[in-house]
Amino acid sequence: MHIKSIYLRLLTLSIFYGLFIQYGHSQQYGKMQTYTYSQPYTVDSLHSQMEGEVKNVILMIGDGMSLMHVYTAWTANRGHLWLDNADAVGLSKTYCLDRLITDSGAGGTALSSGQKTTYHSVGVDSLGRPLESLCTLAHQLDMSAGIAVTCRLWDATPADFCCHNVDREEELDLIADYVDADVDYVFGGGAKLFVNRPDKRNIFEELEAKGFQLPKTWDELSKITSGKVFAVPYPKDTPLPKERGDLLARASIKGMNLLNQNPNGFFMMIEGSQLDDYGHSNNLDLLMQETLDFDQTVGAVMKWAEQHEGTLVIVTADHETGGLTLLGGDLAEGTVQCRFSTNSHSGVMVPVYAFGTGAQLFTGLYENTAIYHKIKHLLEQKVKK
Ligand SMILES: [Zn+2]
Repeated sequence: MHIKSIYLRLLTLSIFYGLFIQYGHSQQYGKMQTYTYSQPYTVDSLHSQMEGEVKNVILMIGDGMSLMHVYTAWTANRGHLWLDNADAVGLSKTYCLDRLITDSGAGGTALSSGQKTTYHSVGVDSLGRPLESLCTLAHQLDMSAGIAVTCRLWDATPADFCCHNVDREEELDLIADYVDADVDYVFGGGAKLFVNRPDKRNIFEELEAKGFQLPKTWDELSKITSGKVFAVPYPKDTPLPKERGDLLARASIKGMNLLNQNPNGFFMMIEGSQLDDYGHSNNLDLLMQETLDFDQTVGAVMKWAEQHEGTLVIVTADHETGGLTLLGGDLAEGTVQCRFSTNSHSGVMVPVYAFGTGAQLFTGLYENTAIYHKIKHLLEQKVKK
């Protein structure tokens, strides 16, 4: 009798556990989601000059953006994307030093420094030693450098280019690293950790002492015509795409115009930061809004490059997020039907699109670290002449 009751209890528990597991999974990933893009935009056909000397390099990172994200956004916009103007396309292998499935810390560090490092590291090697990023390389070559992102500045991707830490969660230390970063223009969110800090430092005051102008709004930033700029208009991330409009494109072009005042040219990193967040939360609606906003930023940057000789634009990702799969839809109506397979990152090669001078170097299959080395090679060629 006693044994029978234990058996019955175990049976009931296992049935409930089984139901919980199944229910939990179907809630998170299994559900088919449908999205229709209501306001498609037109895309011009652009023409670049691939031959010649590279003067400026703009590296654009869609955080968590795979070919599936791009093809889904392309379908939603009725078969048009600015990315389609790419002169060359390649594929990048994203695994990091100690894991097959990487994160933005190690994935972005591979792009910024040319070295594979350990999971969750930003701007350091596997022994914790600081790595020189493309921003530092630009300064060594007497070029200017900058970044523009839609996330908080302690987030991994901007930190990969400006900060050094074995742990991407060390938010206060990461923000403090910006004081010594090799940058002349910064646009991003995260103002709340620059002041009222436990270490009593006021990072904004320290940046001001280093000669940075500190606009607090887009209006203030838009009026600046020269000099170093550190713009952090939001306490955390920037607002959602519908609220912020073309802010990322405006902030990027503003930075490029300021950095371009250096006759030796510039390096700039621009990130569509929030694609990753909506991949994690399996939110197809916001994911498509972010991806299409990022593509329109790519368009604005490519148009600028078309007008400025010797400019190279590279668009890639650090990894995939969400295991997004396009399973149906309608190209004429801009409708897509998708499922996610995880609320984390997945392992797949990510695309590399290149437009402008030197783009031909980016075709083929390579490690994510090769992107850094190709950019370095192009910039050093210029100096050797
Ligand atoms: Zn992520």
